[in-house]
Order: sequence, then structure tokens, then C-alpha cells
Amino acid sequence: MIEPRYEQILDMIQKYQTIIIHRHMRPDPDAIGSQAGLAEMLKTTFPEKRILKAGESVGDLGFLAEMDEVTDADFEGALVIVTDTANTPRISDKRYELGDKLIKIDHHPNDEPYGDIVLVNIDASSCSEIIADFYLQQKERLKLSDEAARLLYAGIIGDTGRFLYPATTSQTMRIAAELMEYDFIPNEISNQLNTMSRKVAHLSGYVLQNLEISSSGVGKVVLTSALMNQFGVTDTETAKIVSLPGTIDDVLVWGIFVEQPEGYFRCRLRSKGPIINEVAKQHNGGGHPLASGANAKDMEEINEIITAFESLAEEWPK
Ligand code: AMP
Repeated sequence: MIEPRYEQILDMIQKYQTIIIHRHMRPDPDAIGSQAGLAEMLKTTFPEKRILKAGESVGDLGFLAEMDEVTDADFEGALVIVTDTANTPRISDKRYELGDKLIKIDHHPNDEPYGDIVLVNIDASSCSEIIADFYLQQKERLKLSDEAARLLYAGIIGDTGRFLYPATTSQTMRIAAELMEYDFIPNEISNQLNTMSRKVAHLSGYVLQNLEISSSGVGKVVLTSALMNQFGVTDTETAKIVSLPGTIDDVLVWGIFVEQPEGYFRCRLRSKGPIINEVAKQHNGGGHPLASGANAKDMEEINEIITAFESLAEEWPK
């Protein structure tokens, strides 16, 4: 499908000398892939422009890309683009407001249409897929380097669970195939994203052993700070275990609740069918229909989420 906003975005990019690209907090491979993939593409296309990546450190995803040093002065008269971020409170580095113009590029439900140009495509598997599609539709005006292709491919791999999740479409596969024509090793990225440290492997064992599964197929596991310390695992590393409960045949909907140093719980919520992002929204969160996040202040709120999941699971045809 021809996307007219690509041209509008490119026209705006052409007008600015400095372009600062942000993404969401607690970045995942798609956040970094779309942000850094777009940055690399713009650097190759417009070598005379300053293209900067803003946001907190990327932790163990440094093999994808590192962030740039961005000063307050850099934002003066700059164009700011935010990728993969549905709402402004989740944008990493609040200085995104200091730029001259703002563009949102995302694939989450458009709950907060912020910015001067809003490009949201909820049918895309990932924001990286949108950036790659942007390139493919504007090939005469854009250049894609091998490094940009590697980053965008990593973002697609990350958000589709290596083409496993239902968000994977024929368009996703076409775009991935185009990216694979570039000079990088796709299998190396899949392995990097699939490999875990021994301590995370041990935590995986804990999750599989201790997951509570209700008769309707709701899975629940709480990872307290004490437990995380015992395994020596950080909050970021729980990304590796989020999809694990879904590999059990009678688990339909699940939540992994990770206690934070401040005392509240980060809720990592997933589903094989029932739509869960409305539940997430009621608990200070949001996300995709089948992959959402929320925040629960205590065990009571966790149980409210589980109760809501029970209703969804019971209504779901067996
Ligand atoms: P996660 O479990 O952190 O991988 O998040 C799954 C999905 O939900 C991602 O697409 C996130 O962007 C989204 N998400 C996570 N936490 C929140 C939140 N607090 N508010 C809105 N969306 C969220």
C-alpha cells in the first residue's frame, strides 16, 4: 500500500540540519532497530546532516547500537523523530520536547497521536518493518546501508519472535527478504537475540517450575526483588523469559510480574488469543492486543489483572 506520509516525512527531514531520533524507555530490539536503523539510513542518505540517537543506555543490546551524546543545544532548531513509542510518558529522554518539529512513527495502537506528523501502522509487525517499508517506497530519495539493514532486520526478528508471533504477515516476510539481500549475517542476529546467560537460563527453570496455571489457562509468576537478586538477574534480562510460558500448551494468557526497586511491579503481559491491552490500559499501561505491559502497585493489583485475565480466558472458545 502506498503511504503518502512517507513523502511528507522525507520532505520535512530534508529541511533540517540536525535530526534527533528517540525511542521508548526500557528498549527492546525493535526500539533500537527502528531508531538506529533510521539513523543509519539518514546518515548514509544525507552525510552533511547531523543525525543523533537519544535515550538511556541500551544495556545488553549494545551489540545492536549505542546512543550518542546529545546536548540541550543540539535540540535547538532540530527535527525530532520518535520511533516505536505509543505515548509521550514512555519516550526515553524527555528533551524530545525541545526540538522544532516532532514526528511519531509507530506500530502500537495510536492511543496518543502526538507530533506534527503521526505515522502509525498497527498492521506492521514492528516499527522496524515500517522504517524498511519507508525506504522501499522512497528508494529514489533514500539510501540503505548494510548496517541499517542489519538493525532493521534485528528489530523485525525481535518483535516477531523470529517470525513466530501472529503479527508476522506476508508483508513482513517480503520486507525481511529485501533486507536479507544486504551484507550482514541474519542467522547471527537470531542467535544473538536467542542466546541467554546461564543465570537467565536458571531463572527460566524457575519460571517454568513455578508458573501457576489456572484451569482456564491463565499463567502467573511473580519475580520478587529477592528472587531476582538470588538469580543475579536484572529487570532488563527478563525480556528473555517473557515468551516462555506461552510454550506450554494449556497456557492461553499470562503475566510475569517483576518487582522494581521502588516496590511496584512491572507487568509483562502476553496472550495467544484474547485481547489484553485493554486490561493493561486499566493498570497504567498499554501495548499491543497480544503483548502488553502495565504497572501494578502491589499483589492486590496483580490479582486484579489475573482476575480480568480469567474472565477473558473463560470467554475464549476452547
Ligand atoms: P514488554 O513486556 O515491556 O516487552 O512490553 C510489551 C509491549 O507493551 C510493548 O509493545 C511495549 O511497548 C508495551 N508496553 C509495555 N509497558 C507499557 C506501559 N507502561 N504503557 C504502555 N505500553 C507499554
